[in-house]
Amino acid sequence: MIAACYTTHLYCDCRECKGETSSYINPEFGEYIGESWAETARNARQDGWRISKDRERAYAPGHKIPRRNNEKESETEVTDG
Ligand SMILES: [Zn+2]
Repeated sequence: MIAACYTTHLYCDCRECKGETSSYINPEFGEYIGESWAETARNARQDGWRISKDRERAYAPGHKIPRRNNEKESETEVTDG
């Protein structure tokens, strides 16, 4: 038997959490455990987390997602795989 375990740690990338510098000050944090990225991402989304398609950014429930002109921050659609 193999018990696969995939842990996803989410740190909010919103401006308030991240601050003006690149170092995290006190970001909202979330931990999700499942069998795959897709599963943990799905659970996170159910809790209200927003995750960018490229998996580079996450935003805590209720936190502001910054809008940029040169970048489409689409509504954090997560695809399986
Ligand atoms: Zn935040």
